[in-house]
Amino acid sequence: MANYQKIKGTQDFIGVDAMKIRKFESIASLVAKSYGIKEIITPIIEDSNVFVKNVGEDSDIVKKEMYTFLDKGERSITLRPEGTAAIARCFIENKMYANPGVTKLFYYGPMFRYERPQTGRYRQFNQFGVEYYGTQAPLMDVEIISSAFAIFKKLGINDIKIKINSIGDSESRKNFSNALKEYFRPYINDFCEDCKRRIDINPLRILDCKVDNNKDDTKEIIKNAPTINNYLTKDSLDYFEYVLKGLDNLNIPYVVDYNLVRGLDYYTDTVFEFVYYNDQGQESLALGGGGRYANLIKDMCGVDVNGMGYAFGVERLINLMDNLGLNDDCIDYCDAVIIGLDYESKLEAFKLAKNFREEGIITEMEYASFSLKSQFKLADRVNARFIIIIGEEERINNVYTVKDKKLNTQENVNKNDILKYIQNK
Ligand code: AMP
Repeated sequence: MANYQKIKGTQDFIGVDAMKIRKFESIASLVAKSYGIKEIITPIIEDSNVFVKNVGEDSDIVKKEMYTFLDKGERSITLRPEGTAAIARCFIENKMYANPGVTKLFYYGPMFRYERPQTGRYRQFNQFGVEYYGTQAPLMDVEIISSAFAIFKKLGINDIKIKINSIGDSESRKNFSNALKEYFRPYINDFCEDCKRRIDINPLRILDCKVDNNKDDTKEIIKNAPTINNYLTKDSLDYFEYVLKGLDNLNIPYVVDYNLVRGLDYYTDTVFEFVYYNDQGQESLALGGGGRYANLIKDMCGVDVNGMGYAFGVERLINLMDNLGLNDDCIDYCDAVIIGLDYESKLEAFKLAKNFREEGIITEMEYASFSLKSQFKLADRVNARFIIIIGEEERINNVYTVKDKKLNTQENVNKNDILKYIQNK
């Protein structure tokens, strides 16, 4: 017999674990909607160029991590590795830039990256993301970030900080790139093959090189590299200050991290990541991240629309919530088990189960056995609060025996009152 196993880096979510995912999704969407952000659902597969051309041909995602294949019509298809470029494709294709004002969208769903699986890093994982399209205004940055904090708060997660930086406008980044080239040149032979190429094409990418065999001294070299703040134009500096002021105004806790550059090419000006700090002040893996992208839409279609967004890693957030006891409400339970002690009683029990279920009462039944013992076993297994027993005597008298496992009581309840009885409790 074949030994079937899930693909490396993917996960099954069973019962309570699926419940946690749905809980996250429903809280995050409710908060997003309170900001006037509308849901968008786009395909999981896209033309590979959507990502190759826009996430950056030299980014880790495009170079190493995409699930790309030719379909039967020889088209190059990619399982989306991230949301921003795919949502931008949809925004453009549907000419949403013609709508007045700022377009605010949120999405939820699986992303695929061929990364080395480890704790908190999967090949299929879920992201919840938000994208705003419109102008470039510091208060828009602040609103987007505050929507993320509102989601953390509703989930019950405190002690989140945002690590924030500005990578500036094109001019700032050109100056910074030149400084990086000059700085890295004497050391470049110590770096990985990708970085050796990157020094001329995109030296910013060296700063977030993830190659594991990078030696300690290269880490040190990266740590001491020039930082973007010394190369920002006045406009970019002023913009960043306004954003920080806006965050102060809403009491959003942040740490400015000049080393934060993020691994996707489309970002400009504000970039950020959300991290959790535990009691000892230790920092978690990034729970999410995002930034502004002034040129993505223009580069894709020629229309000058500024954008900004972020994405959360859902599995990482759920794992954190588990550790903080915030998912203790996700439990398997059942409201009622209805026991039938003979064939006629089972039919009556089945009818009652149907009525209960129509009223949203979670109800279970044993289909085959008439034994009280095995039906009680089912009630234990499904963690039922009420056990309703129907036998010949109950049928004749129109009175059912009802056990309440929570209050540890047993009562006889008239058949016609049974629904109300359960609902009231
Ligand atoms: P990015 O699109 O790379 O900015 O990622 C946004 C967030 O998605 C990260 O902060 C992580 O929380 C999450 N994430 C990214 N890659 C993975 C992965 N391979 N497995 C699990 N979560 C991920």
